Amino acid sequence: MRLVVVGGVAAGMSAAARARRLDATMEITVFEKGDTVSYGACGLPYFVEGRVKDWNQLVVHTAEYFRHERRIEVRTGAEVRSIEHHRRLVRLAGGEEVRYDKLVIATGARQDRRGIEGAEQPHVYSMNTIPEAIRLREYLRTARAGRATVIGAGYLGMEAIEALRTHGWKVRVVHGGRDFLRRGDGWLTETIEKHLARFGVEVRHGTRIKTVPSEGIVVLATGLTPHVELAQGGGVELGRTGAIRVSDRMETNLAGVYAAGDCAEAMHLVTERPAWIPLGTTANKMGRVAGAAAAGARERFAGIVGTAIVRVCGLGVGVTGLAETEARKEGFDPVAARVEALEKPHYFRGRKVQVELVANRRDGRLVGGAVIGDSGVEGRINVIATALTKKMTVEEFVDLDLAYAPPFSTVWDPLLIAAQNLNKLVH
Ligand SMILES: Cc1cc2nc3c(=O)[nH]c(=O)nc-3n(C[C@H](O)[C@H](O)[C@H](O)COP(=O)(O)OP(=O)(O)OC[C@H]3O[C@@H](n4cnc5c(N)ncnc54)[C@H](O)[C@@H]3O)c2cc1C
Repeated sequence: MRLVVVGGVAAGMSAAARARRLDATMEITVFEKGDTVSYGACGLPYFVEGRVKDWNQLVVHTAEYFRHERRIEVRTGAEVRSIEHHRRLVRLAGGEEVRYDKLVIATGARQDRRGIEGAEQPHVYSMNTIPEAIRLREYLRTARAGRATVIGAGYLGMEAIEALRTHGWKVRVVHGGRDFLRRGDGWLTETIEKHLARFGVEVRHGTRIKTVPSEGIVVLATGLTPHVELAQGGGVELGRTGAIRVSDRMETNLAGVYAAGDCAEAMHLVTERPAWIPLGTTANKMGRVAGAAAAGARERFAGIVGTAIVRVCGLGVGVTGLAETEARKEGFDPVAARVEALEKPHYFRGRKVQVELVANRRDGRLVGGAVIGDSGVEGRINVIATALTKKMTVEEFVDLDLAYAPPFSTVWDPLLIAAQNLNKLVH
């Protein structure tokens, strides 16, 4: 039995490793068109910032490790150009044909630069790949700090702001949308904007950039687009989001062909519809399931609730599920409560944390939330994510037995205060 994996980062290497663990005899080959496999792109902004000294620290395992310790053949600099499923083979850039019994497509996503003229100029940077991050870091290390424009206000835009600020640059962020993190959440956007103003970061919403500015440097943090052309060319069907449609076992429409990670959709447990939210957490889990399926095991990927967290100029921003406007678009009748409270008692130098909880008025079910603060964000957003995963109502959430001692929280956790307020609005 021969497994071929296309793409050697989070989803691809997770798939290969899982298949090997479940089947010691399978012949496994991974094709990666880049030079590096199994690395955490999530660490690249912190490499640009300077906290991570060497990008090699982001590499989890090298190709040699996979070859020698896992008996997985990893070929870097090897681009798969086409899939011929009726003959069960992939064709590489040089024309070489490789046969497969099972195929995992883990081709990820790439930065969407469509409609932006001048993106190839030398003063335009990005942080999406290792070579691009190295180029930006080298520049920031040696140049005198000046003015920078970040294009894009998703989490990559926020991470770019933070990295540039750390190097002393004056930053403005420009994007075509109306809000940060593309959630249509005015409250969240206003809170972040107020914080950024304290750091002299200028924000321009609703400004679609057609040509990159010529002054200062420009960091592209535009949205992503799933890398699906290879799959599509081989007859793999896409879903409503434009990413590859998969089952909960990562099966595509073609027998023996699986897709995982940023190139594929995932079931959203709140909307109960497929969604495309490309994140490393999801890619690793999907990869494992695809590898298990390729090895004949019956594992399943439960789905996502859209949880993400980012830091911008020291402020933690965690989101999960749907914001109020998104919930309305999805057919819910949303109602939201927002509170600002101390995350620890004042005698423990507690800082303010802001919590937003959104529920469906009709049945009281929680559908989303956000937490913003200098600290205490990750634990709280994860509690909300757990509640969404388990489809809890606000009434049930109010009764959660959350931990308390003064060094950690307050006796009424801000989450519970928000839930109590929301409960009054639901009933
Ligand atoms: C700067 C940055 C910061 C991030 N921060 C976070 C974070 O904090 N938290 C989080 O959860 N996620 C984060 N992410 C997202 C996360 O890194 C991705 O979700 C994850 O890497 C997706 O893994 P993947 O294997 O699906 O795709 P990718 O990592 O994109 O890997 C796909 C690979 O496939 C290769 N490939 C494509 N086509 C072919 C072909 N035809 N032949 C051979 N090889 C091919 C590509 O070269 C690529 O290496 C971040 C991403 C970036 C860029």
